[in-house]
Amino acid sequence: MGRSALDVSRLCEHLAGIDLGIATAVLATALGSDPISVGGLPEQRKRWLSRIADDGLLMAYGATEPQAGSDLAALKTTATPIEVEGRVTGYSITGAKQWISNGGVADLTSILALAPGGPSWFVVERDTAGFTHGKHEDKHGIRLSNTAALFLDDVVVDADCLVGGVEGQGLLQAQLVFGFTRLMVAAFGLGAGWAALERVIPYSMERIQAGGPLSEKQGYTHKLVVPHVVALEASRAAIEETAERIDTGEGALTTEGAIAKYLATEAGNAACDAAIQALGGYGYTHEYLVEKIRRDVRITTIYEGTSEIMEMTISRDRWQQHLKTRGDHYHDVATSLEALAGSRPDVGAGTAALAHHALAEVLEACRLARLTRNQHVLLRLGHLVALVEGAGALARRAGRAASGALPPKSRRCLEPAAVAAASRANARDVALAVATEGIRLVVAGGGVGSGELPRFEARVGLPAILAAQAGGLEDLDTIADHLYGRA
Ligand SMILES: Cc1cc2nc3c(=O)[nH]c(=O)nc-3n(C[C@H](O)[C@H](O)[C@H](O)COP(=O)(O)OP(=O)(O)OC[C@H]3O[C@@H](n4cnc5c(N)ncnc54)[C@H](O)[C@@H]3O)c2cc1C
Repeated sequence: MGRSALDVSRLCEHLAGIDLGIATAVLATALGSDPISVGGLPEQRKRWLSRIADDGLLMAYGATEPQAGSDLAALKTTATPIEVEGRVTGYSITGAKQWISNGGVADLTSILALAPGGPSWFVVERDTAGFTHGKHEDKHGIRLSNTAALFLDDVVVDADCLVGGVEGQGLLQAQLVFGFTRLMVAAFGLGAGWAALERVIPYSMERIQAGGPLSEKQGYTHKLVVPHVVALEASRAAIEETAERIDTGEGALTTEGAIAKYLATEAGNAACDAAIQALGGYGYTHEYLVEKIRRDVRITTIYEGTSEIMEMTISRDRWQQHLKTRGDHYHDVATSLEALAGSRPDVGAGTAALAHHALAEVLEACRLARLTRNQHVLLRLGHLVALVEGAGALARRAGRAASGALPPKSRRCLEPAAVAAASRANARDVALAVATEGIRLVVAGGGVGSGELPRFEARVGLPAILAAQAGGLEDLDTIADHLYGRA
């Protein structure tokens, strides 16, 4: 507690590489205490945070309800003020919470409840009358993390258990910590994804098929290993860049946290799925742990905001930015990447710039044809935005790696030459995805007719993006050589 966002993300990555259930249980205490950290009065912080530190209290974070998941504002749990001689002395809380990590074991639980002034956080002690929990849920993965429903039946707490002492601050306080907490779940996806690949790499060096080890088969490494390392490293770049920005006081960075979570948890899931395939029949058994890691990592695209909610959050924010800057935002970021490419031509920044220009053109075509009225378009744009911002972050990271200016290494960091190759490979994939998927969305929504298509393809930069695919195979070979110690 109290460490930098970068430190905590590294800790989360490391814990998730050991066991995501343990990581979840640890994070639940951090999460439960977050409303107090950001919104608590000084005496509340002293009272509860020091008990967590001194006595090792476990906490839980009670936001989700049976009918209020992604849409937290629909919450039904109520906090009714208890007044004595016109003064509020306490609250009576009634309602139910669903899927609460540490719910059955926590000493203290932060409960989001609807007070007359609006949603508010209350801290509820374990043995308070009327406060009970359901059974430990029988889950697909993270089976050792306790998850339980909570029931509150006229649970009376003192008025000083209202976090911050003012009603109606709950959703704001939850928002304030999202940038940070989503970054931590992002690090879970990163750690679990790498944990699975770290089992695949040695396995494939020993497993002999068709006269040689699997690690020597390009069709194996370039499908089941290398692309996942590339996607995970793009997500690492987004995580660590966001963490460093939070640590230098740039604010909550909610959208950047959502981008990091989306990229890392999707990449972690894909990597773990590929790990089962990479171990063949052995991967499908309990004995070869990748099967467990695959079940565990599945939760990361669901809790702390689902991937679809991340897409919506990212898209809405960046759409506003596109409108506010009259379409210049991603062109401006592209210009800064072009400057980086000028001094470091080998770190993928030029291709990442093409991806940014393409995104700006796709967003503008969507604006002209008013396509974001379609929720599908809005969410797909969120996906493309995340990919593009990840490509920018990885190019900047590769630039820093090349000049020896990265933060201290994490256990799984690649060598600078491999980071550069990963950045080039990622930028190619992302530029192609944003151009082709973006053109497809615009055409599908009727934004561009078939007669105008060649001109639109040129505006998006499709020919240049196709030309930038040159050298792609060599880069995949380079990354594989680094991973297998052949570089
Ligand atoms: C193991 C586990 C641990 C958890 N721990 C905690 C915890 O400690 N504290 C806590 O408060 N919560 C916790 N949760 C709850 C978790 O955050 C929610 O499950 C999650 O936010 C999704 O809510 P939901 O399950 O109600 O799904 P829903 O919101 O019903 O979503 C179902 C599907 O619909 C999609 N969807 C939802 N809304 C939209 C929309 N507007 N547009 C398009 N698609 C949409 C979602 O992306 C998802 O795919 C935990 C959940 C699990 C499974």
